[in-house]
Amino acid sequence: MKQNFIFMVLITGLISACQRTPHYASYADYPVYDGSDLELTFTPSASTFRVWAPTADEVKLLLYDDGYDGGAYKTIDMHRSEKGTWLLKVEENLKGKFYTFQIKIGDKWLGETPGMWVKATGVNGKRAAIIDFTETNPPGWDEDERPPLKNFTDIVLYELHIRDFSMAQNSGIQHRGKYLAFTEIGTKNTAGESTGIDHLKELGITHVHLLPAFDFASIDETKLNENKYNWGYDPLNYNVPEGSYSTNPYNPVVRIREFKQMVQALHKAGIRVVMDVVYNHTSTGKGSHLDLLVPGYFYRQNADSSWSNASGCGNETASERPMMRKFMVESVVYWATEYHIDGFRFDLMGIHDIETMNEIRAALDNIDPTIFMYGEGWTAGKSPLAEDLRAVKKNAKKLNRIAVFSDDIRDALRGSWMHANVPGFVSGADSLEESVKFGVVGATLHPQVDYSKLIYSKAPYANDPAQVINYVSCHDDMCLYDKLKESRPANATEDELVRFDKLAQTIIMTSQGVPFIYAGEEVYRTKKGIHNTYQSPDSINEINWDFKTLHRDVFDYYKGLIALRKAHAAFRIPTQELVQQHLKFIDMQTPNVVAYMLTDHVNGEVWKNILVIYNGNRHSVLVQIPQGNWNLVCHDDQINLNGISTVRTTHFFVPASSASIMYEE
Ligand code: CA
Repeated sequence: MKQNFIFMVLITGLISACQRTPHYASYADYPVYDGSDLELTFTPSASTFRVWAPTADEVKLLLYDDGYDGGAYKTIDMHRSEKGTWLLKVEENLKGKFYTFQIKIGDKWLGETPGMWVKATGVNGKRAAIIDFTETNPPGWDEDERPPLKNFTDIVLYELHIRDFSMAQNSGIQHRGKYLAFTEIGTKNTAGESTGIDHLKELGITHVHLLPAFDFASIDETKLNENKYNWGYDPLNYNVPEGSYSTNPYNPVVRIREFKQMVQALHKAGIRVVMDVVYNHTSTGKGSHLDLLVPGYFYRQNADSSWSNASGCGNETASERPMMRKFMVESVVYWATEYHIDGFRFDLMGIHDIETMNEIRAALDNIDPTIFMYGEGWTAGKSPLAEDLRAVKKNAKKLNRIAVFSDDIRDALRGSWMHANVPGFVSGADSLEESVKFGVVGATLHPQVDYSKLIYSKAPYANDPAQVINYVSCHDDMCLYDKLKESRPANATEDELVRFDKLAQTIIMTSQGVPFIYAGEEVYRTKKGIHNTYQSPDSINEINWDFKTLHRDVFDYYKGLIALRKAHAAFRIPTQELVQQHLKFIDMQTPNVVAYMLTDHVNGEVWKNILVIYNGNRHSVLVQIPQGNWNLVCHDDQINLNGISTVRTTHFFVPASSASIMYEE
């Protein structure tokens, strides 16, 4: 059998060597391969390699003993197969070996590439690794389960950079900056307060959203003692975990196993895991691992054939081309199945086309419909893709159960992202009430919102509240404290900044939609005024865990807000219709005040009616409230779900820069 097979390969190889490379008039004419065996299929008895390279004149496989150093111990020609692919079967046990592909176009050999579907690599992601994936599973992995989730509106997102989480000495964590930091329990700061994963449980968030954790290019994994920092928005290998967060980036099994240990530990703590995925561009364009397979195909070009740059990073991928679309769908499915990932945040999602995003949604629904998808509904530059095809905010209604970030509520609350000194509603800025109301109704259609007065969008874009991410800060731009400080009114005190901060997150946590906080905001983090810290040192980026003790009042307030939201379904209404029926704004006849009622046990709420008042003014206001047997749970910067006091009058003072929340049974 074996000899027959080799003979067959030889014959086929001779035939294919005589075939001429087809010439295609456009990318649309490239054949599409629909099989699921691209690049490597490993068994202990044989490894089969299949590369999609329709424009290649020759393709070869290079085999290595080492993932980084030394030359190939063997080079083998691949032969032309169906639908633009090249095939080779090596009937040996190649476990532990490394490989690359090399493509010849015309008379020119391109650089080596580990391929784009590669799932394991050596250090720095340069060569693909052949491993047995069963060896990457930590004990108990088969029993690992996603924590329960009913509605997307039940989610509380926490955006976290893996290194920020544990790098500070006062994290008390042993595996600082590593995936394994998430597996450590019982860790404490200098004052003995919980840090790390215990802290996340204490805070009560439901999902950790990790900044890029796939293999990115900017950190040299052979020089980890240099302690370089990067956010990681420079993709190298999409289907491989980043090596610098592992304890040994040279051993291809280690990073995979440790990533899984991280997911397993978070799941055990009742927390779901979201990955930030950056399919919109690659670290380098020409010469990337994708481009070395099929030059040009995976990227968009302008009319003059120059490369377009909607990412602002020098290139943009072309999700509308079938093989890029297939890659994105299968890559997301791979992370959701092999690594048990529970959600995906798409960087610059507006670069992708709507059809691709909906195909990803459908593929994830086949695995588990509670896997969450959301993204930035914008681009960072001009794209040749027609605007009505883009997965941008204004097209959100065409996206199926995929959410977009609301920069509308973000900048209404804290002020412009572009102008650091411009304040928002929480710092006392005027005329932002309608934008705040737009956030409160989760970017849906509501009869009491005047959409013409919004700061950005002039129409509702969400089909229902689960389609919008409400937030006031994230890794981009200044963190909340820095922004509030930079934009503070001339005579604002430090104490007032705390009030602004708490008011901002109160609006986020009580609004309809999916709330999102940036890691460390709950301990009053500062990044020392730097707005783009993508490669700033740890001293700027790391979470200072002693801040939890120093700003205990802020932490307790955030924790209280999350507990309020989780205990009260009225803040988590799943549909636009229910919001329209049960959320009623009340005109308090006072500028910079937004008030509303959530009525009649909406969404199974235990409280009958809830009254929420946000006072953006830097002075207290006297307002007229509906007659009722009210119980205050949030007032004057304090939150207590057991009740602060009762309210029986219709005249009510809301203190400066704060929220009052009360209920009746
Ligand atoms: Ca890397």
